Amino acid sequence: MSAPSPESRLRPLLPSPVQPADDERFARHGVTLLLKRDDLIHPDLPGNKWRKLAPNLAAAAGRPVLTFGGAYSNHLRATAAAGRLLGFRTIGVVRGDELADRPLNPSLARCAADGMRLHFVDRATYRAKTDPAVLAGLLELYGDCEVVPEGGSNALAARGCAGLGRELRGVADVAAVACGTGGTLAGLAAGLAPGQRALGVPVLRGGFLGEAVRGLQRRAFGGPAGDWWLDERFHFGGYARTTLELHAFAKDFEDRHGLPVERLYVAKMLYALTALAEEGAFPAGTTVAAVITGRPDEEAQSSSR
Ligand SMILES: *Cc1c(COP(=O)(O)O)cnc(C)c1O
Repeated sequence: MSAPSPESRLRPLLPSPVQPADDERFARHGVTLLLKRDDLIHPDLPGNKWRKLAPNLAAAAGRPVLTFGGAYSNHLRATAAAGRLLGFRTIGVVRGDELADRPLNPSLARCAADGMRLHFVDRATYRAKTDPAVLAGLLELYGDCEVVPEGGSNALAARGCAGLGRELRGVADVAAVACGTGGTLAGLAAGLAPGQRALGVPVLRGGFLGEAVRGLQRRAFGGPAGDWWLDERFHFGGYARTTLELHAFAKDFEDRHGLPVERLYVAKMLYALTALAEEGAFPAGTTVAAVITGRPDEEAQSSSR
């Protein structure tokens, strides 16, 4: 008998639910809004973090997983939680050596409580993390590991996210997702059926995301896959930046639709969709699925309220 896959042992809620959202800002343009609730896939590995990690954990086959992230990385948290739940070692390489001398923030404290070994590096080393010499140094310290890139986005992850696209076949004309590294968009677009389109809303500024998505699709699928585009207007100043207007929008969306709205990614995507609908960017009769890729972190939300 083969060992159960990480997928089956963690009992993810797949396919994730699709819910209609009755919203007059869309309805008055003849647009139907659906919420694709990837945030409900797993309590500790929500959303795209599940879809990206599951194939990487299968490849690791129980070996320790070494990965990378900033001090508030959802990906580090999800990896640490998976290690606790499935019983494998995790090493998190964290950007910022000054953090080593301070009390851990709640996000990193949770990683440590889940058994993740935290390894702090200065910013220059972090930038050079894919350099063979830097990687070799880490593997010398921690032994044989499955190395998963920052944000969990590699070819396996993009293929994992193609499942999201397949779940949306026949469900919507447009599927929208917030983008950090672009791994989720790369897979989503590849999984959709011909005639469906994927919209990516980058939450970082810089305009590098198109190239990142094309690179990931080359490695995962051998070339361009699916019909996708980016709208780069809605980063609200960049990663982890928010504005009062964005918070007010998110709070209002929560009140209208009764779902918690994560502020750093999901709120920006929902704001973008609402703006596009109001600009008349979607022809009447269009059905748009907003992919809810994660949910708010309790500590982060309460401190920002
Ligand atoms: C990590 C994350 C994303 C970004 O996914 P990428 O594949 O890196 O583009 C989007 N939404 C949420 C809630 C996330 O945690």
